[in-house]
Amino acid sequence: MTNSLLKQTLHLSGYNPDSLRVDLAQQAIARCIAPITDTASIPLRQSLGRVLATDITSPINVPSHDNSAMDGYALRGSDLGSGDVTLKIAGKAYAGHPYPEEVKSGDCIRIMTGAVIPRGCDTVIPQELVKDASEPSVSIPAHAIKAGANRRLAGEDLAIGSVALHKGRVLTPSDLGLIASLGIGEVQVMRRLRVAFFSTGDELRSLGQPLDEGCVYDSNRYTLQAMIERAGFDAIDLGVVRDDPAALETALRDACRQADVVITTGGVSAGDADYTKDMMARLGEVMFWKIAMRPGRPMAFGQIAVDGKKALFFGLPGNPVAVMATFYFFARDAMFRLQGATVPELPVIRAVSAEAISKRPGRTEYQRGVISFDHSGQAVVHLTGAQGSGILRSMSDANCMVVLPHDTGSIDAGQTIDALPFHGLI
Ligand code: AMP
Ligand code: MG
Repeated sequence: MTNSLLKQTLHLSGYNPDSLRVDLAQQAIARCIAPITDTASIPLRQSLGRVLATDITSPINVPSHDNSAMDGYALRGSDLGSGDVTLKIAGKAYAGHPYPEEVKSGDCIRIMTGAVIPRGCDTVIPQELVKDASEPSVSIPAHAIKAGANRRLAGEDLAIGSVALHKGRVLTPSDLGLIASLGIGEVQVMRRLRVAFFSTGDELRSLGQPLDEGCVYDSNRYTLQAMIERAGFDAIDLGVVRDDPAALETALRDACRQADVVITTGGVSAGDADYTKDMMARLGEVMFWKIAMRPGRPMAFGQIAVDGKKALFFGLPGNPVAVMATFYFFARDAMFRLQGATVPELPVIRAVSAEAISKRPGRTEYQRGVISFDHSGQAVVHLTGAQGSGILRSMSDANCMVVLPHDTGSIDAGQTIDALPFHGLI
């Protein structure tokens, strides 16, 4: 991220920090981020979920030779006529054991799937289509097959010199296989992003501590660590920090020194944010936004720096569901960008709402739902009960987020809405 760009973006006029649209906040954040540049070469086996730092160009044709798509007999297409033909079986071609000679007209070769098509041949007749295959010859009925059939062409999967995978790709299991099929065993990937996080709040207790009156167990660090790791980043847990400016500053400095991104939860709502604001101004440039969204209204975003070492900063709200919503709809995309990853847009399913949903125009709402398909294949969404921003069960019970856009009002039962399946998101 460049400092001046951050400055420009964060101070753009026309942004109302007291009611910032979700899409404007997302755009502002996106504009601030320049990808890291450090790369590493790692063994292919360890590269699942990592981000490609270079294009992968195919050094070979895949497959390397024309080969058979079927078990059967390889022949010359020009030997097929208008009537039945009988061809002499001149030899065998098995996968890994090619037939070494040119096949003469009138001959065929017993061939297995994957075997190289012998020289002279261009067609394979599947064994179940031949009439009589008693050695030394095979009889082929008229019109059983067209010339050229069942031949997989060299390079039809990937031609030599073509780009198999593009820089920025988050590697999947099939990508690992594809890279292996090119004979490549080491890949150049982006260094994994380091994300430090801590919770703030005097009422928070860590697991194992007694739960004093009025206190709650700190759940955010567990959700955050899981979300960070699921996204493929290194998570650095810095514990619980008291609602105290000095303690907060120490923790932020510590986090900034060791991470690319610092995420905190709690303490950004009006009132308790006041001293945080002053402190943030000393550490860097941080904006306190009231986002026009539910859950997750207050959020801080910016950059902090300690001894010249910079880190992106997200101050997420404290409520557990708001943490997840702001993480998924702001921090996640920003971190992928910083990581240099090209992340495909999340698929949205148009679904019918099983119930009426009350909604105020002028903010984006994320409700938790369960999407299913009725007998006609129509996608239907039910909400998962109470939707308070502290009610984590509403997330655990859900399999999708219902996204109600900024300008939308209340929804009637039976109306079509957008649902974002968790699959791929979390
Ligand atoms: P805050 O944004 O700090 O005012 O917190 C809002 C609400 O979220 C309060 O009810 C907090 O108790 C709760 N909360 C804040 N941080 C956490 C956390 N780490 N784990 C669980 N609940 C939290
Ligand atoms: Mg708090």
